[in-house]
Amino acid sequence: MMRHLISGAAGFIGSHLCDRLIANGDRVVAVDNLITGSARNIAHLCGQTNFKFIEWDVTRPIEIDGRFDQVWHLASLASPKDYLEHPIETLEVGSTGTRNMLDVAVRDGARFLLTSTSECYGDPLVHPQQETYWGNVNPVGVRSCYDESKRYAEALTMAYHRVHGLRTNIARIFNTYGPRMALNDGRVVPAFLDQALRGRPLTVFGDGSQTRSFCYVADLVDGLLRLSVSEERYPVNLGNPAELTIREFAERIARLIGCKLELTFEPLPEDDPKKRRPDISKAKRVLGWEPKVSLEDGLTETVAYFREFAPAG
Ligand code: UDP
Repeated sequence: MMRHLISGAAGFIGSHLCDRLIANGDRVVAVDNLITGSARNIAHLCGQTNFKFIEWDVTRPIEIDGRFDQVWHLASLASPKDYLEHPIETLEVGSTGTRNMLDVAVRDGARFLLTSTSECYGDPLVHPQQETYWGNVNPVGVRSCYDESKRYAEALTMAYHRVHGLRTNIARIFNTYGPRMALNDGRVVPAFLDQALRGRPLTVFGDGSQTRSFCYVADLVDGLLRLSVSEERYPVNLGNPAELTIREFAERIARLIGCKLELTFEPLPEDDPKKRRPDISKAKRVLGWEPKVSLEDGLTETVAYFREFAPAG
């Protein structure tokens, strides 16, 4: 039975990871400062003997007794709306927070996995994005608090691997969606679903020609679990290569909900990447992983969640 430390455990992806590890019979210590995570996401696990939640900000040194086998650093403000509101906290959790989590892994001789991001590629000039692409990031733009904190976290993780021989993994996560996303986090999936369920026009930023590729959370967590036991030290893209323009995505949402497609256009946020699609040939080769859940199936699960927990009113 392995013992895991997970930061960001009450977040959208973190809570699904907790579910999978607990279902495997492992022990989980879940840490979150609840700045964007929600205690509701893990409420069903609290009270189980293998699960313990500690409300803690990992930018403060972590003093938790007992040895861990695996440390997962997921904590971050992942939605543009949230990291633009909290740029300093975002930089802190990617830098000091990563260091504190790495120090636990060194203390215990544990494995360490960092959840990084496709934002490391910035507004990419190479398409689709391979892990060998170094990216096109504006280092002083409004999104830099997120992009650069994750790039620093990757560099720090590699340094700990090189200096301490730590067994590290780095996942570059592309747009992910599913149940437990916060309805008001400003990201396009909850925003469009919320608007469609309320019969309101969908807010398209820019002309909607920018693209994204959406991965269902169960597929993503499967990829993380495979990566955590692999010997691959360099970053691995995890995402679904099925690419859509945001306008096409709005059409899919309207069809799924069965509402008339009505759009309103708002200004494109600063430095919003024009294209994003993962090249997942490395994940296929190294992890034997690729996404299995179609956008229709994944969105149907997500809509069911939003109808139950955040009913339109
Ligand atoms: N977007 C949009 N309407 C919204 C929210 C987002 O058109 O209400 C666009 C946004 O400009 C971006 C894409 O959808 O091009 C994905 O945005 P999101 O915030 O979900 O994540 P990002 O990929 O930018 O991190």
